[in-house]
Amino acid sequence: MANSKFEYVRNFEQPDNLLPNTWIVVRIDGRGFTKFANKYAFEKPNDRRALDLMNAAARQVVTELPDITIAYGVSDEYSFVFHKSCSLFERRASKLVSTIVSTFTAYYIHYWSTYFTETPLSPPLPSFDGRAVCYPSVQNLRDYMSWRQVDCHINNLYNTTFWALIQQGGMDALEAEKMLKGTYAADKNEILFSKFGINYNNEPEMNKKGSVIFRDYELVEPGTHNAAAEAENQAEPVQPSKSQADNERKRRAKARIVVEHFDIIKDEFWDRRPWLLS
Ligand code: ATP
Ligand code: ATP
Ligand code: MG
Ligand code: MG
Ligand code: MG
Ligand code: MG
Ligand code: MG
Repeated sequence: MANSKFEYVRNFEQPDNLLPNTWIVVRIDGRGFTKFANKYAFEKPNDRRALDLMNAAARQVVTELPDITIAYGVSDEYSFVFHKSCSLFERRASKLVSTIVSTFTAYYIHYWSTYFTETPLSPPLPSFDGRAVCYPSVQNLRDYMSWRQVDCHINNLYNTTFWALIQQGGMDALEAEKMLKGTYAADKNEILFSKFGINYNNEPEMNKKGSVIFRDYELVEPGTHNAAAEAENQAEPVQPSKSQADNERKRRAKARIVVEHFDIIKDEFWDRRPWLLS
């Protein structure tokens, strides 16, 4: 097949290698999940089964792609962070995004019946879109993660109040929307508490904070070491030797992969886990 007269068509392929030495975030999002959630009667505002299923699929993605440092998920979306030194697929965006999207989707469908035991999937089957974005500094990456978690908080407080007004307050969607228009967080907390006796602080952590997936090594005591800041201060990217890289790969392959619902905005999470950003 080599040197056939057809081979010139390869020249039409465009390079799409992502900027070196930057953190690559691939974010996937369920396509048309508002409709999908209705079809399978997701409990509103947070169907526990659906969130557990998202987490199970994402955990498998992190397991199969050791270049992923950390992942964060909420609702029908998940962000996967590739380490800035990642060289998988020569950092080609289309390869990275399509591999994540198809691996995630395959596991979402594979695990469906584990979480939705009574309702089998039927076409149209769930699908996800994806995009890749490069973040040049640890600060940019952390701001990205914070952005998603703040979004989770804002949406969840709104949705919790909105659905309480409907499910317990007997309002229809329009009335609830009108009532919440122009309200601040404090107003929503107040509505929840005074009308329904709900203390928002006692809502499940997964709903309030989303889910974070990472490889778990030994925690570092607060204030002893700040590898992330050190790494950020280095002008040149550190190229680990081949055996170092091999060892690191083996260590990653062996580490326990955990799903937690931590605050990833504050420094503490990152300070205690310096391996995530170094
Ligand atoms: P698009 O294809 O543009 O992403 P979409 O309908 O998926 O459209 P999103 O903004 O991604 O729009 O919103 C996700 C939808 O899925 C929301 O309506 C949300 O309420 C619903 N959803 C996702 N996960 C859950 C869950 N665990 N429980 C209840 N509803 C959920
Ligand atoms: P990569 O991840 O780089 O794509 P790969 O192993 O998938 O690696 P390909 O160049 O895509 O490499 O080759 C596909 C492989 O799958 C070949 O080894 C091919 O023989 C095998 N294969 C695919 N379809 C069939 C099939 N229907 N019957 C037998 N073998 C198949
Ligand atoms: Mg979308
Ligand atoms: Mg969606
Ligand atoms: Mg979404
Ligand atoms: Mg092939
Ligand atoms: Mg192949």
